[in-house]
Amino acid sequence: MRKPIVAGNWKMNGSSLFAKELIGQLDSHVQDLSNVEVVVSPPALYISQVLADAENISCAAQNLHDAQAGAFTGEISVAMLQDLGCKYVLIGHSERREMFGDNVEFVAKKVAAAFAGGVNPILCVGESLEQRKNGQAFAVVKEQVLSALRGLSFDPDNLVIAYEPIWAIGTGETASPEQAQEVHAYIRQVLADEISAEAAEKVRILYGGSVNASTAEELFSQQDIDGGLVGGASLKADDFKIICSAAANK
Ligand code: PEP
Repeated sequence: MRKPIVAGNWKMNGSSLFAKELIGQLDSHVQDLSNVEVVVSPPALYISQVLADAENISCAAQNLHDAQAGAFTGEISVAMLQDLGCKYVLIGHSERREMFGDNVEFVAKKVAAAFAGGVNPILCVGESLEQRKNGQAFAVVKEQVLSALRGLSFDPDNLVIAYEPIWAIGTGETASPEQAQEVHAYIRQVLADEISAEAAEKVRILYGGSVNASTAEELFSQQDIDGGLVGGASLKADDFKIICSAAANK
């Protein structure tokens, strides 16, 4: 059985006070939920604070560089994340692919670096609206998954994939549960065909794209949806609590 995960991507939002208040409200709620792993992804500056304040929540960084150290101003290495006790790292979020030059080669290097450094990647994949309209969604997602994983040896328990159709991120437009399930099942088939049966069985695949307190339950009830990567709604404690409970009840 795959344990559901809900990960909240704060993006470039929040402050020290915000983090304290949100984690204060969330941590006690999560304490009573046994069947869900709750992760928050604050700006890197607040990871230490969140981990110090949270007993039941782990952290994902929003990015890393694949190099171990060196002249990469503004970047963070996997060893630094490991040093902080950060369990996960988002890799290949569409905002990074679109705005910060995270192309398929860079994403693949980052995934390899994360595994090598003992921080679990949450690999984000997803098609644009134009690609969906042109019937390319499956091909795009397959290539994003395989270009990041080809040739890598990894423990499938340590990999999370987030399917995030770009047209649903921050737009208020959610993929229907059937649309999301269709792609999740396809990703699992790709893992079975190209990686291993074990990977297909064990890798957790999250849905992301305007998940909110009213849509979470139905999305998470789908067979191949193992939780969610949540942006906007993860900044509101009450909404995020409902989303975490929806995953715990899967
Ligand atoms: C995200 O940033 O990964 C995301 C899914 O955002 P939102 O939930 O706001 O669409």
